[in-house]
Amino acid sequence: MPEAPMLEIRGLDAFYGEAQALRGVDLTVAEGEVVTLVGRNGAGKTTLLRSVMGLHRQVTGELLFEGRDIVRTPAHKRARAGLGWVQDDRGVYASLTVEENLLLPPVVSDRAWALDKVYEAFPVLADRRRAGGTTLSGGEQQMLAIARVLRTGARMLLLDEPTEGLAPVIVRQIGDIIRQVKESGGTVLLIEQNVKFAATVADRHYLLAQGSVVESLDNAEFSARQAELL
Ligand code: ATP
Repeated sequence: MPEAPMLEIRGLDAFYGEAQALRGVDLTVAEGEVVTLVGRNGAGKTTLLRSVMGLHRQVTGELLFEGRDIVRTPAHKRARAGLGWVQDDRGVYASLTVEENLLLPPVVSDRAWALDKVYEAFPVLADRRRAGGTTLSGGEQQMLAIARVLRTGARMLLLDEPTEGLAPVIVRQIGDIIRQVKESGGTVLLIEQNVKFAATVADRHYLLAQGSVVESLDNAEFSARQAELL
């Protein structure tokens, strides 16, 4: 029998008051996969990702993480269960140095990255380890935000547009990190508007429109149809 997916979503609806933002979303992510959510503005990508983390609570349906229904589980317990949220505003503590930011998160599993491993993967953070959070560029802050979640040992990373607004050289470095996370057995679900980038990092893609999944594509199909997708 094939192993159960790490994340399995069935018939998920989400609301903001009376307004329905997600409609019957079905989605799976297997352990070790990198999967993107793509779709136009307002399609429901952020609502879906926040619903997985428990940051959006007005939801109904099934949300199974490692076989357990977590749809009513509070966000802090989902974090302890191994879901790692990389904040869209990056959430870097300005009054702390880079290293202090990296030392802050509590460890939730034995997959936690040691500081040395982080500095090897993110040389820019090693160079800036004594620098204050406010002095970092947008790209450095994004790397710090990702590194901090890797430090916790989260088994599944949730990333909301990690490349948004960043220079191509930084985008490439973030791609390298995501591939490295996958190579070390990690699992990633990310929102990505940059379809070219999405095709370089992911195994599969879900296309959302008006709150529903309209297509599920493997990376070969996605790459072939990139131009028409968004
Ligand atoms: P974007 O890329 O613009 O963030 P998205 O695909 O992530 O788009 P969502 O932000 O999840 O889409 O929005 C889905 C729907 O929910 C949209 O119709 C949006 O207007 C609505 N919505 C999002 N946030 C709220 C909110 N706080 N209150 C009311 N409606 C909201």
